[in-house]
Amino acid sequence: MDAADISQDLEHVLKTSDEVATRVGELAQQVDTDYAGRDLLMVGVLNGAMMVMSDLMRAMKSHCTVDWMAISSYGSGTRSSGVVRILKDLTTDISQRDVLIVEDIVDTGLTLSYLVQNLKSREPASLEILTMFRKPDALTTSVDVRYVGFDIPNEFVVGYGLDFAGRYRNLRDVATLAPHVYK
Ligand code: 5GP
Ligand code: MG
Ligand code: MG
Repeated sequence: MDAADISQDLEHVLKTSDEVATRVGELAQQVDTDYAGRDLLMVGVLNGAMMVMSDLMRAMKSHCTVDWMAISSYGSGTRSSGVVRILKDLTTDISQRDVLIVEDIVDTGLTLSYLVQNLKSREPASLEILTMFRKPDALTTSVDVRYVGFDIPNEFVVGYGLDFAGRYRNLRDVATLAPHVYK
């Protein structure tokens, strides 16, 4: 049996792997500059941020350390409710640390505002956010995102860490799914 090619499930590509790689390189330069001489801790949100974290770290020229959180957000359907549960907490004490949250995508911003509130209570020296993708709704939330890879239209996308039912994270491009996938 031939291996199924998951790219056949895609409708249209929003960002190619080359576009993503170029943009990650630019973000890495900005982060390098902004955190020069500081001891940066990057906090990735599992599982979606796995690709952006690994590419960002390798594109950076200065020291950084990494830790991960896993959270689940309860919501009806495809929208998040802002009610969030921590499934895996940090192993690092972030008090007095310079912390950068690394996210795959911000949609409503509810998940992120919970996370910011939670991490701020641990009294880091600074707390900023980097997200690879941002949707229009996120612009109306109170969460201040310092670094944004791309603003994208309000469509459900997969690839580059982003999943549908746990799948498609391994796609290099970022794309919408063909209607037959949802059936
Ligand atoms: P928010 O709380 O900002 O509405 O939700 C953010 C989370 O919802 C993201 O971390 C991601 O897990 C999921 N999400 C939002 N939009 C998309 C999308 O277009 N595709 C995928 N695969 N996940 C999304
Ligand atoms: Mg995420
Ligand atoms: Mg998901």
